[in-house]
Amino acid sequence: MPANLTLDSLRAAVEAGEIDTVLCCVCDMQGRLMGKRFHARHFLDGGYEETHGCNYLLALDVEMATVPGYKSASWEKGYGDFVHKPDLATLRRAPWLPGTAMVMADFLDHHGEPVAHAPRNVLKRQVERARALGLEPMMATELEFFLFEESFEQLWDTGYRTMTPVVRYNNDYGIFASSREEAVMRPLRNTLFAAGIPVENSKGEAEAGQEEINIRYSDALDTADMHSIVKTATKEIAHSQGRSVTFMAKYATDRAGSSSHIHQSLWRNGENAFRDPEAEHGMSALMRSYLAGLLAHAGECTYFLAPNVNSYKRFTVGMFAPTKAVWSTDNRTAGYRVCGEGTKGVRVECRVGGADLNPYLALAAQLAAGLSGIEQGLELEPELSGDMYHAEAAREIPRTLRDAAVALNASEMLRTAMGDDVVDHYVHAARWEIAESDRLVTDIELRRGFERL
Ligand code: ADP
Repeated sequence: MPANLTLDSLRAAVEAGEIDTVLCCVCDMQGRLMGKRFHARHFLDGGYEETHGCNYLLALDVEMATVPGYKSASWEKGYGDFVHKPDLATLRRAPWLPGTAMVMADFLDHHGEPVAHAPRNVLKRQVERARALGLEPMMATELEFFLFEESFEQLWDTGYRTMTPVVRYNNDYGIFASSREEAVMRPLRNTLFAAGIPVENSKGEAEAGQEEINIRYSDALDTADMHSIVKTATKEIAHSQGRSVTFMAKYATDRAGSSSHIHQSLWRNGENAFRDPEAEHGMSALMRSYLAGLLAHAGECTYFLAPNVNSYKRFTVGMFAPTKAVWSTDNRTAGYRVCGEGTKGVRVECRVGGADLNPYLALAAQLAAGLSGIEQGLELEPELSGDMYHAEAAREIPRTLRDAAVALNASEMLRTAMGDDVVDHYVHAARWEIAESDRLVTDIELRRGFERL
């Protein structure tokens, strides 16, 4: 579905007094929308050409700390600017905010070249690679999150000790239970839809206060844009209702985590090229090689599916977060599940990623791995069935950020696909997160040790 504004229709909406603000958004390393709020008239008078922002936006950590050691941005280099170039194909209303429209922008350097490590540019590069093979990546992300009664401010001020899930029990598919989440979910579905984001449905999930939202699949870049917009809109609508949400992969030890499954298929001439009705499971040879690539490089790509120390706490046996890089048809314990077997919608679903992933980087890494499988004509290993958590001899996904960073750093496949500078940049980001987690004393350490050590 095309985004629903052009410069002309934006101008008409501004004249009619419907829109007065345009958000010009870039996506940072953490997958967050950053940028500026334009007066709509200034945006129309030339602001749409380009704007600028400090290059540290791609060299900060989650708390906006200036991380030392990045090649692209540092105190030594004076933290200059990057250009933010609006991609006008993404101009749309943002009806969850009054009088507001929004546009996604790309990071360019002062020579007008794409900044290679900017997440949206990382994905574009892989999409171009697929297109050079005559293939269009079509993808969807499912997004899970938790909804709490308290506001963000209340939780911040009380140190996150009083979180009350809106629904108090596991409400997987529950209609009655999830009705009480409708104060947030209904405006979310409707305003996203009005923004040209084709919401399929939302549903209660398998933990107290957990929800999932599904958006119809689209080309990979559109899907990543929609994913980051959905996250922002969810936070904004929850905030406007005096509630809070979290997209952390695991917010509490004894609660299930939140995932972001990634559905993937490659299309040729408007048809799903993963489909071969004559073949086993209706999977084409192309799909088999793509899936073989995903499996062969699963460890190297894990960082992009689980980019935080916390992400790895989601990989708990028996909680539907997979720990093995194996494939299976319609089996939710496998890291890679073949869905829509025998139908036009046959696709692979990667179930490894958490809700804290950066969608551009995650989709790019999946594509890089799958395309390398196709280019090398990799053979797909036999399907595994049954409970994969206990499958012997199956390939394990890295279980810590430290292991994932080592695998990323050593990945010839990702270095070839994304470039050394890009891989080095994200290895550095991972190492910073690890160093911070090694350095910080946590509440849990205090509770366990203060008296008893
Ligand atoms: P399930 O109930 O098994 O999770 P759904 O039917 O809800 O599956 O679909 C999950 C996601 O997969 C949706 O976002 C849907 O748009 C997407 N999807 C459907 N067909 C394809 C396809 N060919 N390629 C990529 N994604 C697809």
